[in-house]
Order: sequence, then structure tokens, then C-alpha cells
Amino acid sequence: MTIAIDGYSSCGKSTLAKALAKQLSYVYVDSGAMYRAVTYYFLKHDVALHNETEVAEALRKIKIDFVYIDGQNTCILNSENVEVEIRSMRISNNVSEVAAIGAVREQLVSLQRRIASSKSIVMDGRDIGTVVFPEADIKFFITAEQDVRTKRRYQELIAAGKEVTIREVEQNLEHRDHIDTTREISPLRKAEDAIEIDNTYLSREEQLMLAIKYIEELN
Ligand code: C5P
Repeated sequence: MTIAIDGYSSCGKSTLAKALAKQLSYVYVDSGAMYRAVTYYFLKHDVALHNETEVAEALRKIKIDFVYIDGQNTCILNSENVEVEIRSMRISNNVSEVAAIGAVREQLVSLQRRIASSKSIVMDGRDIGTVVFPEADIKFFITAEQDVRTKRRYQELIAAGKEVTIREVEQNLEHRDHIDTTREISPLRKAEDAIEIDNTYLSREEQLMLAIKYIEELN
């Protein structure tokens, strides 16, 4: 069973994906964390994004894994726990440029398919229902009004101890949504057969119950 969840930045995709995975005992796969980990590596090693040779060489040296640490899905890049680092504003401000590179997407999409090949998964991202798993058993496309998404993300970052302003968060979401929807390769869009959920006025619990209802209707 494969559940694909796509949508704009900070619209509650991962909240829903994690809750569904827990409820159904599936594995949650955070594809955004993979793009963030690659971005972390590229920034750390000064990889020139327009230099195909440098990008290819860097990609060969990247190994991404996920492990559960204290019940949290944690991203490991070449044996280093990067879960905290990849959530920084510096990574958020650069990730969409990296995610627009064809070679990066090719490598990560094949990793995503490999992870899903042997188990039931819930994966969230931008192209999961359209490109990674066009045959997914069920696809959700999550939306929420921009100011609600901004506030939720701001509160999340502040709770995590990050120093940001609400304006910075707003600009980052706008910037990423713009690049993610207009890039040439695998732009973010709703798959034709995806179920749209606007969670602007839904609680986490209501969103989960709604998604479960749709999944139950499959049987
Ligand atoms: O999901 P998250 O917000 O952590 O994703 C970070 C970025 O990674 C997105 O803004 C997008 O540029 C990229 N991404 C992508 N395709 C995916 C998942 C994430 O291009 N499947």
C-alpha cells in the first residue's frame, strides 16, 4: 500500500503523513528531508549548482538513511544525524534551487522508490502522486491559506528555538512555492486523481479523520 501526499510548503502534509503512518502502522517517508539533506551537503562543500560535473560528483558521495531515534524519524546523511541542521532557515532558503536540479531529483526519486518497494508507506512531498508513485493506492493534495501556513510554520520554528521573523517565514514559503510550482522538472501540481483537502479550518484530528474516511472508502 502506498499513500502519496503532496502540497505547498508548510500546509500540514507531514503532520498528516506521520499521523496516518502511526494509525495504520506504515512507514513514514519524508521526501523533503532528502532534498534538505542534499542541500546541506552542497552548501557545506560549496558545490556550484550550475556545474553538472561538481553536482554529479557530490551526489555520488551522498548516502541518505532514516532511523528512528526516540520515536522520531531522523535523517542521517553519511552517518551524521542532520535532522536539526536540515530544518534551519539557511537550508529552507536554498533547498528549492537544489530540488530543481534534474540529477538531484533522479537520484532521490530512485531512493524513494527503493524504500517503498518492500513495505507499506506514507510519503509526503511535491511530486509523489504525479511522478514518484503515479500508481499510488491513494493520493492526497493538501492546501491551506497562505497566512495560516505562515503562522503555523513560524510557531513551529519558534518552538524549536529558531530565531526568525514572521516576514522571513512568509517570504521563504512564497519563494519555495514559486520555484516548486514553476520548475521545469516535476513541478508541484495536484495529480488528476488526488483528493484535495483544504485544512485551513481543520484541526489535526479532523484532517486525520477525513483522510482515514477516504482510505476506508477504498475497501
Ligand atoms: O517538505 P519540505 O518543505 O521539507 O521540502 C523542502 C523542499 O524540498 C521543498 O520546498 C521542495 O523544493 C523540495 N521537495 C521537492 N520534492 C519533494 C519534496 C520536497 O522538490 N518530493
